[in-house]
Amino acid sequence: MKKHVVGVDIGGTKLATVVADTAGNILNKVRKPTLAERGPEYALQLLFDMVHETIELAGLEPTAISAIGVSCGGPLDTETGIVYSPPNLPGWDALPLKSQLESEFEIPVTIENDANASALAEYRFGGGRGYNAVLYMTMSTGIGGGIVLDGQVYHGANDSAGEVGHQILLPDGPLCGCGKRGCLEALCSGPAIARRAQAAVRNEKASATTLLDLAGGRVEDIRSEHVLAAARHGDALALHLVEETAYYMGWGIANLVNILNPDIVLLGTIAVAAGDLLLNPIRKTVSEFAMTRPAEAVKIAPAQLGEALGDLAAVALVV
Ligand SMILES: [Zn+2]
Repeated sequence: MKKHVVGVDIGGTKLATVVADTAGNILNKVRKPTLAERGPEYALQLLFDMVHETIELAGLEPTAISAIGVSCGGPLDTETGIVYSPPNLPGWDALPLKSQLESEFEIPVTIENDANASALAEYRFGGGRGYNAVLYMTMSTGIGGGIVLDGQVYHGANDSAGEVGHQILLPDGPLCGCGKRGCLEALCSGPAIARRAQAAVRNEKASATTLLDLAGGRVEDIRSEHVLAAARHGDALALHLVEETAYYMGWGIANLVNILNPDIVLLGTIAVAAGDLLLNPIRKTVSEFAMTRPAEAVKIAPAQLGEALGDLAAVALVV
């Protein structure tokens, strides 16, 4: 009776393996540091051991597992299962991850980039339940995204769809990690918010005491969390930074709303931490910038899976 699946979440700092039932209930979890600097052979062997260990800890025989879902940083090819040099996994150059796992465990393996897998998890288990067109956007060290339409991840021609963070809003704006300028990610990721906050504090020292205090007095230590905390205290500069962030996010989301006509846009991490402080001005900008009909249809809400997202992302691929 194959009533269980294994989920594998591969990150640059952590590897996690879980066993879940087909309803997505996690039975067991093993987590270890990736030690990415030791290269892919080390990480793969560790991963094999962890999968075996997780199955054993769940009190199951390997034959009880029907499939393995793998959520991994891209770029990767979902059909061939080959991973192409994710920035956080040095040495993973054209690594045939799917076939290596399939030959070790002799069951089907599905791999997906982490943002797409997260979108599918929110669709199956989180804030996207009950909707047909779901757009999920991360808002953390980068701005990634995944599009789920009628229950399927939209991959595009070569698994490159969903790069919502690299739409260019300000062609002369700040440099982005992708090499272009003024991408949404270069304006609204956690590090980008921190950079804008640091620049604002340097310009307006007199009115920036709350932000500076929260960061321990050092401008270069100001992070996006400090901006949110100061804004909650009513600090004018921090509130301005939140409004500016919401304006760019709303602008970017309005573009996507016009193109995709989603039922719901789910925003992760920073948006979850900020709640309506950030979401309300985002909603306002979307309703101003998007066309009337798609703007009327869309809900903009925080992602729901929180800490469980990584595990459920991998599991969502195979249940
Ligand atoms: Zn970019």
